Amino acid sequence: MRLASISVDLDSLPHYCRIHGLPESLLDARARSLVHAVAVPRFRELLDGLGIPGTFFVIGEDLESDPVAVAGMRASHEAGIEVASHSHAHDYALTRRGPQAIHADLARADAAILAATGARPEGFRAPGYTLNADLYAATAALGYRYGSSAFPAVPYYLAKAVVMGGLAMLGRPSRSVLDTPRVLLAPRVPYWPDPARPYRRGSGAVLELPMTVTPALRFPFIGTFVTTLPSASLRGLWRACRRDTFFNFELHGVDVLDASDGIPPELVRQQRDLRVSATRKMARLREVFGWLKSEREVLTLRDVAGRLSASARPGCL
Ligand SMILES: [Zn+2]
Repeated sequence: MRLASISVDLDSLPHYCRIHGLPESLLDARARSLVHAVAVPRFRELLDGLGIPGTFFVIGEDLESDPVAVAGMRASHEAGIEVASHSHAHDYALTRRGPQAIHADLARADAAILAATGARPEGFRAPGYTLNADLYAATAALGYRYGSSAFPAVPYYLAKAVVMGGLAMLGRPSRSVLDTPRVLLAPRVPYWPDPARPYRRGSGAVLELPMTVTPALRFPFIGTFVTTLPSASLRGLWRACRRDTFFNFELHGVDVLDASDGIPPELVRQQRDLRVSATRKMARLREVFGWLKSEREVLTLRDVAGRLSASARPGCL
């Protein structure tokens, strides 16, 4: 049986302000908490409706500052959803901070997740999907079972380079960081990384589960596109990835939000998918989750890592 996972990065709105070079003062208390207060219950509803599990990547800082986030992650964990780590501060430049600071950031997120759910996270996704040797070493030292940070998507990489260049010219530099182009050659299927160069295969201890991109063109099959592309294009993307043994569908909390949920207009202007109604986006996601369920066994990323680790030793996948 082929496998699939549905994972949601719970980046709260302050992180979107940072990526777009906007002041966080745009956000009131409700907007700061919107992803946890509104998007998390909507994702729970989608998953529960189909009877499938999912994985939430939560930011440690949000758990320390927002009681709604703590209650939501505890309830999700108890309902069988995996709560994994999306780092403590969601620092886009985390890979450049040096081994000790990286380890400290991840350990702090682990502690916040343990305090909220009663369980240590077993999986990690890097902020901005940027992985390097220092970050990989920290995930190994902290005993993670898997990472899911490699995003070898060509159009995403090019678009990010153009947007970041544009913002810099406007005098509003983004806090985001452009990854090494080496990521574009990373395997698009699960692999054991080389600890020194984690976008290459090797014999590292932490299995990498890359996010799904199409073969050849490497177009990303992610929430932003799934909720906004015309139906025919989406079906084309789906067919292109259909033969993959493992389908790793990555989404964000904002994929089930829209402008009417109380997002500041300045942010909606930058993040155009927020103009599509949440009702429409949820209907689309219900359909695509249904496709996954009808053709694959849908598991948490932790359980996929367990299955794949049992069937292949490092270097053999
Ligand atoms: Zn993120």
